[in-house]
Amino acid sequence: MFVKENLKNFKETLPDHVILVAVSKTKPISDIQDAYEAGHRIFGENKIQEMVNKYEALPKDIEWHMIGHLQRNKVKYMAHFVSLIHGVDSLKTLKEIDKQAKKHDRVINCLLQAKIAKEETKFGLSFEDVENILKSDELSDLTHVKVKGLMGMASFSSDQQIVSGEFKNLKSLFDQLNKDGHQLQILSMGMSGDYKLAIAQGSNMIRVGSAIFGPRNYIAS
Ligand SMILES: *Cc1c(COP(=O)(O)O)cnc(C)c1O
Repeated sequence: MFVKENLKNFKETLPDHVILVAVSKTKPISDIQDAYEAGHRIFGENKIQEMVNKYEALPKDIEWHMIGHLQRNKVKYMAHFVSLIHGVDSLKTLKEIDKQAKKHDRVINCLLQAKIAKEETKFGLSFEDVENILKSDELSDLTHVKVKGLMGMASFSSDQQIVSGEFKNLKSLFDQLNKDGHQLQILSMGMSGDYKLAIAQGSNMIRVGSAIFGPRNYIAS
């Protein structure tokens, strides 16, 4: 009941143009089932094996998003079902996704992860590298991946100005790229602690876990 109520209340506060990815990593199948029964269909996981297990156990009309850092050698395990890969940070990874998607006769949608936080620990491409990948001939040769937009993670900071500023930078890049003729639709930014700031800066896809499912217990998982 907790998940259903929480999810319903959370969704009521969201503007219509914002897509919610319910981040179910470390959470049991039963929690996802509850969210599913409440009508939710888009879930995010950060480990491929965990996502595969959940995919196999749950209804097949769920859209699974991979939001974690990708291990290239594991892309093959999710290529037959993943619906959006958020954390792509190299052309090499796009090539691997393309290769695996081809085997299943699919086109896999991806987001390029741009580095917006100052912290060393956050993955992601420089803005320049995002641009270079998007305009590269190598990308246009890949017929089984489609870059749909950008993803970013802000600094883990209580300073709202810092966090807002980082989201704003990513939105500017997104707008600039579209002005230059790219056709990016998705801007994935915002998590439980900062999704309001992200939406205020133009996010249209948020990845929210603990605000819906409660805190994660990493020791037990
Ligand atoms: C875990 C995770 C989230 C969700 O985090 P919450 O703070 O629980 O909302 C969002 N994005 C990524 C990339 C994550 O790994």
